[in-house]
Amino acid sequence: MPSPLTPRQILERLVAFPTVSRDSNLALVDWVEEFLDERGIAAHRVWNADRTKAALYAHVGPEVEGAVVLSGHSDVVPVEGQDWSSDPWTLTERDGRLYGRGTCDMKGFDALALAALALAQERGVKRPLQLALSFDEEVGCLGAPAMIEEMARCLPKGRAVIVGEPSRMRVVTGHKGGGGLLCHVQGHEVHSSIMHRGVNAIMSAARLIDWANRRNAEGAAGPPSEVAALFDPPWTTVHVGTIRGGTAGNITARDCRFDVGFRAVPGETVEDWAAAFEAEARSVEAEMKAIHPEAAISIGRLFGYPPLRPEEGGEAEALARRLTGDNGSMVVSYGTEAGQFQAAGYSAVVCGPGDIAQAHQPDEYLEVAQFEDGWSFMRRLVEECAG
Ligand SMILES: [Zn+2]
Repeated sequence: MPSPLTPRQILERLVAFPTVSRDSNLALVDWVEEFLDERGIAAHRVWNADRTKAALYAHVGPEVEGAVVLSGHSDVVPVEGQDWSSDPWTLTERDGRLYGRGTCDMKGFDALALAALALAQERGVKRPLQLALSFDEEVGCLGAPAMIEEMARCLPKGRAVIVGEPSRMRVVTGHKGGGGLLCHVQGHEVHSSIMHRGVNAIMSAARLIDWANRRNAEGAAGPPSEVAALFDPPWTTVHVGTIRGGTAGNITARDCRFDVGFRAVPGETVEDWAAAFEAEARSVEAEMKAIHPEAAISIGRLFGYPPLRPEEGGEAEALARRLTGDNGSMVVSYGTEAGQFQAAGYSAVVCGPGDIAQAHQPDEYLEVAQFEDGWSFMRRLVEECAG
């Protein structure tokens, strides 16, 4: 018999693995695999290219379609430069709160999901449960697509996905899609007194950045679509967060680099927006090349994930509403893996313990009461799956 572990003890173990996205998550994956194995649950890994990280998925219950999928990520954001009152990698309770990196985003839900799988295995279920534990979520939802693809191929097809990002156990039915580009404008350096013979990379970049300003103004002015109207703001935003370029006030800048971030409302895609940006860049580039042939604009893709569109009569929404009793309507502006599951043909919602306001913060915490609400949710889910 495996040693019985409470959800709280599981969370303690998970928090102790410093699974910052840039580092390996394999120690955590080893532990989770052993936890499941001890309970007779087979787990499967989906590796990254250099086998330094892995996603993990598992199936409990009869080999039939229609599973409820519990989806979490194993990685967390860094703690450097943050002022913590206690060790971020040691779960610490103070004043009804569980402090530690990842407690809220989202190892609290991961612990509950593992406890739910163990309970379902012990109790026996008619409707299967599946676990989907990804990596590299915090750096742009990079780890989930390969895992989702393999789950859909190798397991009896699951149907309703609960992505446990912090929502205070409210049912979130929609979020924007997101994506980012890195843009490198290469100009031609001359003395600024003869700037007409040079190509100023910063001033060319400014034209592309102003393209973003104009798109945002159009979005703000236009009437939103029905689904976009649910969001704040109700349009796709184009944002430039960093810029770097130039060497001196009297030299036309040879290089300018900036990032472009899109947050797309459902019904629009980051790919279309990125293509529109690229088209603008090509037109600016043509004018630059007319002055000097070596001038160029190169665009690299950073990441991209699809929006979560509220479903008509969605199965995941109905399930989550039954289990939480929440009938309010809620969409969020942060991205999750729910849109990726939906794009792969699953019904998906976001519902998890904790508040997004505590995510990524120094002294990140999960309220004990939220963790307990989450555990009640999981016990009701297992009861329902037991039939
Ligand atoms: Zn998260």
